[in-house]
Amino acid sequence: MITLLLLWLVQWILNYINVYPDEVLNQQRTQMLQELAHSTVELSGESGGAVFLTTLQQWLFWVIAGVLVLLLALCWWLKKRICEMDSSRDSESEESEEEEQPAEMNMIWIFSKRFQLSVPKLASRRRVVQELLSDLLQVSHSLFSDSFFPVLEPAIGVGSACEGWSPHKEEDIVYFMFVPLKPPPGHAFHLEPEATGQMPQTSMRIRVEQECTCTGKQPDQSILCFLHHSAEELKRNQVTSLLHTLCTGPYLDGEKIALWFQTFVISAWSVVPQSRHYSMKVLPSCRSCKMRLVKDSGRSLFVEIVFSVQQGDSDIFLSSQPTGAQFPPSTTWLESYAVAEAKFFRQVAMQAPPRSCHLKCLRLCARLLEGSGISVYALKTTVMHLLTLIPLSEWQHKYLLMRVDDIMHYLRCCLEEKRLKHFFFGNEDMPAEISLPPDFQEAQPLNLFQHLVQDPAAQTKALKEFDDLQYYLYFGF
Ligand SMILES: [Zn+2]
Repeated sequence: MITLLLLWLVQWILNYINVYPDEVLNQQRTQMLQELAHSTVELSGESGGAVFLTTLQQWLFWVIAGVLVLLLALCWWLKKRICEMDSSRDSESEESEEEEQPAEMNMIWIFSKRFQLSVPKLASRRRVVQELLSDLLQVSHSLFSDSFFPVLEPAIGVGSACEGWSPHKEEDIVYFMFVPLKPPPGHAFHLEPEATGQMPQTSMRIRVEQECTCTGKQPDQSILCFLHHSAEELKRNQVTSLLHTLCTGPYLDGEKIALWFQTFVISAWSVVPQSRHYSMKVLPSCRSCKMRLVKDSGRSLFVEIVFSVQQGDSDIFLSSQPTGAQFPPSTTWLESYAVAEAKFFRQVAMQAPPRSCHLKCLRLCARLLEGSGISVYALKTTVMHLLTLIPLSEWQHKYLLMRVDDIMHYLRCCLEEKRLKHFFFGNEDMPAEISLPPDFQEAQPLNLFQHLVQDPAAQTKALKEFDDLQYYLYFGF
């Protein structure tokens, strides 16, 4: 912080001198002389000259002292940065084997430091979260095996933290985990698009239906059939259908599921091994389960569990957690691309060269765009498009600045054209590994910058903000 301030100060002075050398100095000189003249006029007689000299000497003394202090601080800062640079080079040199341009690498190094592009703990903390979820779900399976609550499938890590590029500071990172729900025996889920009048559908309700378990390939004699056993029999055996627990009407209710799961987590916590190393608190949340884990060292880890239902066997899910500010009814589930996106980034990580820079690019640009009108999602979409357009071999670490340039250029063109295509609709370059519902391929491309089409003033503002940012990237500190 201090070094940044110092650096800013030095740069400000340098700029000041470089840009307006004569003007400013002349102005200052004139002002000083005016002040001095003024004070000498006030002092009458012979003592006036002496006072003038004393004032001038004092003034000079303080200027020189100030400059010296500044220089000393600058030397100290430079020495510190050089030491840091050396130690960091040592740790990074093991990874880099290719011959890279020293000047370019220095630039990349400066960018890495300035935007704090490395997040070393992301992967290890992600593993902690994944293990926790797997342990919790194991407990849930043994606890709920005889009841008719939704079956909790293995959790899928989604979002920037799990994809490895979170723009946030380490202590603020939230690890999002999607827990897919499957219908329990004797039940089926039917996805009903909500009549929003828009294509493609982005919200649905999940109708729960009871199914016969008497017949079928492997009739399960141990469970009673909701359709063919009498209500009395079912009541005597204390069998409650999912319809009477976590539904509102015939529809699966996100709020009820969240409350049920939160209660489960609190009661199951002492059983999981993580309880020995962390204290846990369930934070208030209507549609998800937010947990804060605190280690003995005092460090916090935030996990948010979001409930989801898969659309067919695709990578597109319906999620209990609304993303925007609007809060639809608790029986409304919103289409989410988070799982498909996480899968896309896993695929890229597998196919990309060892030190691929795409995550660093994302983190750098995300930090740069912070507070601007351009959403992180627009940026992520841009990078996903570019990852399918530019060969992965061109994403080696040494090309980081070029790729950042590409990303910013692409975003600017999209702003100009008021058009940024959603990655998952009508995209001909979609990697084959990503499984989409059939109507996605034929769908009209969805424009993420549609709001700019309707509001030209917003476009002008966004473009100006964007140009200021680019200036900041290359010239500002
Ligand atoms: Zn039956």
